[in-house]
Order: sequence, then structure tokens, then C-alpha cells
Amino acid sequence: MWREKVQEYEDQIIEDLNGLLKIESVREDNKADEDHPVGPGPREALDYMYKLAQRDGFESHDVDHIAGRIEAGEGSDLFGILCHVDVVPAGEGWDSNPFDPVVTDKDIIARGTLDDKGPTIAAYYAVKILNEMNVNWKKRIHIIIGTDEESDWLCTDRYFKTEEMPALGFAPDAEFPAIHGEKGISTFDIKQTSKDDELDEPDYELISFKSGQRYNMVPDEAEAHVGVKENMTDVIQNFEQYLSEQNLDGESTVDSGVLVLNVQGKAVHGMDPSIGVNAGLYLLNFLSALNLDKTAANFIDFSEKYLFESHFGEKMGMKYHTDTMGDVTTNIGVISYDKENGGQYGVNLRYPQGFEFEEAMDRFKNEIKQLGFTFEIGKDQKPHYVEKDDPFVQKLVQVYREQTGDEAEPYTIGGGTYARNLDKGVAYGAMFKGSEDLMHQKNEYISKKQLFDATSIYLQSIYEICVEG
Ligand SMILES: [Zn+2]
Repeated sequence: MWREKVQEYEDQIIEDLNGLLKIESVREDNKADEDHPVGPGPREALDYMYKLAQRDGFESHDVDHIAGRIEAGEGSDLFGILCHVDVVPAGEGWDSNPFDPVVTDKDIIARGTLDDKGPTIAAYYAVKILNEMNVNWKKRIHIIIGTDEESDWLCTDRYFKTEEMPALGFAPDAEFPAIHGEKGISTFDIKQTSKDDELDEPDYELISFKSGQRYNMVPDEAEAHVGVKENMTDVIQNFEQYLSEQNLDGESTVDSGVLVLNVQGKAVHGMDPSIGVNAGLYLLNFLSALNLDKTAANFIDFSEKYLFESHFGEKMGMKYHTDTMGDVTTNIGVISYDKENGGQYGVNLRYPQGFEFEEAMDRFKNEIKQLGFTFEIGKDQKPHYVEKDDPFVQKLVQVYREQTGDEAEPYTIGGGTYARNLDKGVAYGAMFKGSEDLMHQKNEYISKKQLFDATSIYLQSIYEICVEG
């Protein structure tokens, strides 16, 4: 019955989605001002949603042009649906204009179809259809719309500073059946503080070292500049041998007496570093066998002792596991060293609910102090978790199962979704098991089936929670 109800609206859904997809709602800081806090595109997309709301008889409320909401329902309890209308830049290589949607028999192709304009329109239509059915609402609904999800979440930061936090909610910005837990995500820098004065002339001097640019990626490239007094050929030979033993790509060149070593690894997302190859840590591992100057040796010893081949915090004494959320993971995303300033490791650590983050950091800080290292926490987002057998999660999953016949279980992830902005919220669709995930990639599309099926699932869920509930 729900799916039939959606059928009456299919053409309208596509038309309204197309209008939203045509807006190039990419953040543009160079065009930002008070009226367009992250640029004109995102603001235009937000206003577009207000226009739909006005046409359909809903109130809307704007919050500094960076976020806002569409209001529906009645009652004291507030239910939230958290969406975003900004998109990542189109990038190269599209077969069509990414901001001029192509509608085929089966698909709609444009930037934002999956992330997150398609799901936003699906959720909006679920509310609109119920409203036009004149249901007897028992809860208020806020469809909260952000315009900076793809960058810094300035939208939700601003919004929840002054606006009401829903008691419950979902974010249609990931996958079905539901993501009910997300690890804590922290970044910190480990900095070398002490420099050793060299009494003897070392055989080799580490002049500089560089690997990685982002905390949340495993670095696939590393480069070291080494001053070599003698036996240059031996070092090069050992390096070649090391590469082949470890099955790595790399090369060595000599540039006016300085040996430049380069290693290639495998970049993967920092939430799962064990499936990548950290080029930086391997290159340091090779250098650890050389008789280097003391400051460099101290820096590299640190990697050997705490970081190399340790993806789950085990060498740092931070190994922790829960059956619901998995392991602590540690990614060493940025490594740098120069002989004037010493070195630095940039770490991205993700942890399950229950891991004592502050305690672990304090203990580690004390331990490494004696070795001449200090430590600075960049950011720490706490884990986000709603019990799997919470009636709310169960209801969402049961509706999904009923409509799809798929018995999949809700799950937890190491990454972060928009749902973590809600006190009690989960990510809920709109990707299905078989959906091709082209979020942030070229030729992003949503199938009509996916769009309408998601609308139908949202329709029933919102009905059961906000009308029956
Ligand atoms: Zn998104």
C-alpha cells in the first residue's frame, strides 16, 4: 500500500528532485559573506527547499542562511529528519553535465543524486504524502536541512546552538537497514621535543622526511632525504633488497651527494588502516637499520616501538574491542621530519563506545615524555551509539524488512555520518544492498526504483513513529 501511495507522486518527485539537482550547491569560500555563509550555491539550495515547503503548505524556519527546517506534524514530542543539500564538487570525467540531470528509463544522473539530494527529497515526500493523507499526527516533525555537511558541519553546529534538539531522529544519508553506532574519531599529533647534540659524526644524517597529507588516509607515498658520507652504493643496494623483501614499490636517486629514497604504499581510508600499506612507516622501518644521527634515530625508534605494523593501538597499549563496535584503530596519516625541528606523527584514532579515551591519552602522554615526545589533541568526536534493540531502531529496521524482504541487521561503522549530530539518531538509507555507491564520484546516479523504494520506507516509518507512535 505504501509503495502504491508513492506511485501517485513519482513524476512530482522527479521534477522536484531535478530542480534541486540543477543548483550547483558546492561550498565556495571566496564567494561567502553573511548572507551566503558557505557561498551562493548552498544558500540557493536551502531556499529551494523552503519554496517547496511553502508551495505544499508547510512552515519553514531559517537559521542564518546556513541551515534551517521544514515543520510538520503536531504534538509535544519532536522527531527529526536530518538532511543536507550541499554537494562535493563535480570533479572530472563525467559523461554528462553533473548539474543538468539526465533522466533515463531507470536512473537519474547528476551530482548529489545519492548524497544527499535524492534521499532529502525522498524524506521530504514521505512527510508531504502523509500530510496530504490528513493523518492524525502525534509528533511534531522537523526536516532539518544543512548546507555544509561535505566540509565542516558549520550548518549543524550553528543550528543546534539555538534550535531544539529532536528527541529522536534519522539521517537519510548512508545505508539501509540502519547504522546504529559510529566510533569515536580523534586526531592527535605526537611531536619530538628534545634534540640531541651530536658528539660523533654519524655515518648517515636524516635531512628531511615527508609522508601523507591527511589524518584520515593511509599515506601511499613517502620520501626521505639522507646525507650519506660513504658507502652510498651499499645503502642503495640494501634499499632495493628491502623493497623486494617487503613487496613494495619505490626508488632511490642521488642528488648532489644527498640520497633521496621514495616508497609507495597503498592509500585506503584511515578507518581501516590494516588493509592499506603505510609508505611512511615502511620507509622509517628501512631507515631504522642505518646508523643515523641521534635525533633522527630517536624519532625512528618511536615509530618502531609504538607505530610500525600496529593498526589496532596494540603497541601504544590502546588495544580495545567490543563485539558491537569492533576495535580501536590507529592510522598514522601524516609524518614529517626535518633536522632543524625534529619530527612529528599525525594520528587518527577511532574507538568504540566504552574505550576510556582521556585515560588512555594521559597514560600515553606520560610514557612518551621520558622519550622526548609531547602530544597535542586536535579533535575528539565521541562515539555515537543507539542500542540495537532500542524500540526506535527496531521499528526502522522492521519497516525496511517488511518492504524489502531483506533480513539484514543494523550495524556499526568506523566512519562518521551526519546522524551523530542528533542526540538519539541513526543513519537510515537511502542506499540499498545492491546500490552502486558513486557518492563523491563521477557519474553519480540514483535509480528510480531506489528513490521510490526509499520514499516508501520513509513513508511507513514516519507513519508508524509519528502517527501511530
Ligand atoms: Zn552526505
